[in-house]
Amino acid sequence: MCGIVGYIGSKQAPSILMDGLTKLEYRGYDSAGIAVHNGTKINMIKSRGKLVNLAKKLEENPIEGTVGIGHTRWATHGAPSDINSHPHMSGDRLIAVVHNGIIENYMDIKEDLSSKGYKFVSDTDTETVAHLMDYYYKQGNSFFDSVFMVLNKIEGAYALAILCRDHPDTIIAARKNCPLVIGLGKGENFVSSDIPAILHHTRDVYLVDNDEVAVVKKDSVDIYNINKEPVHHDIFKVNWDIDAAEKDGYEHFMIKEINEQPKIVQDILSKRMPDSKDFIDLEGINLKKEDLEKINRIYVVACGTAYHAGLMGKYLIEKLARIPVFADVASEFRYKDPIIDENTLLIVVSQSGETADTLEALRIAKKNGARVLAIVNTVGSSIAREADDVFYILAGPEISVASTKAFTAQVMAM
Ligand code: GLU
Repeated sequence: MCGIVGYIGSKQAPSILMDGLTKLEYRGYDSAGIAVHNGTKINMIKSRGKLVNLAKKLEENPIEGTVGIGHTRWATHGAPSDINSHPHMSGDRLIAVVHNGIIENYMDIKEDLSSKGYKFVSDTDTETVAHLMDYYYKQGNSFFDSVFMVLNKIEGAYALAILCRDHPDTIIAARKNCPLVIGLGKGENFVSSDIPAILHHTRDVYLVDNDEVAVVKKDSVDIYNINKEPVHHDIFKVNWDIDAAEKDGYEHFMIKEINEQPKIVQDILSKRMPDSKDFIDLEGINLKKEDLEKINRIYVVACGTAYHAGLMGKYLIEKLARIPVFADVASEFRYKDPIIDENTLLIVVSQSGETADTLEALRIAKKNGARVLAIVNTVGSSIAREADDVFYILAGPEISVASTKAFTAQVMAM
């Protein structure tokens, strides 16, 4: 999991991009880079290792411009190295791309483009997107149309942000199975994998859905579905406390989050059991009595720490409801051809709401007619949006990779 950021406005993009990347550092990364359009051409700078390496390079070779994209990489194809870092550009620097995810059919595309004379410099899957964009654009298609042609060709998972040298006023971003948000400012707009990266600048965001494309300019954001039809999104107002997304004086996020546990427990109890011990507020769960009565099998499906919260759920539900509950690791569940029908309830548990195997398990269950209840932390995440019912655990942003307060909150949710 890595991060992408983008900025378009009147301020200098490099410092805004670097600041955004710093906020995404928790996602884990092995290299980083930015590409900035200066009105005439796209300049790029990238470096293996920590962001300080990139910052140092940037200090030695400053680049300027008010439009740009940035990336922190968690390598999937090709070792962490300067050359494999993102952004990736087409041969004559017409196109620059940052990508979170995996292009599964990149080998076929690479072979095809190589036979047409395209030269690849990196080992990444992502570079195919840059050259494919270049290819379609040079056939006379617009920047906008070329993006759709690329999306129709590539398979896999992506959040993409793309610059074109001929269009200094536009960033085009697209998403499939990787998170992407657009931050809305005044005379400036932002692209990001996650909200903390843009929270210093705006609290108004669009949560881009799968198979959607956002055309982001300084004064406008237009979102389209994969058929190029405009789609409307309501503005999502982020009500997190800015400090909650940062370290709050603690040495690192994990110790901060461990110390937050008593407050989380208190917050959950006062939200879910406001008045008395007899009433529990299950806002987000719309299962009616008749829905519950027909359920004869329950799965609790999750990965890692969330799976252990799921095990607690299994014991509790079986004890109280006397219905068999099967706790499964999502990566096993999705491949084992599970027994699911319309009398099945699938409970998925995920802190981020983006856990790929858990999301896939949810989709399999829905396809087979099951009801899906998600227990998640991240509001507006893919799992939260695709599930029938959502029970938010209310743990606040969990930045540390080792789960602490989110686990506690998941157990409380159970
Ligand atoms: N698959 C791409 C690469 O290896 C992107 C990985 C990521 O999401 O950071 O470069």
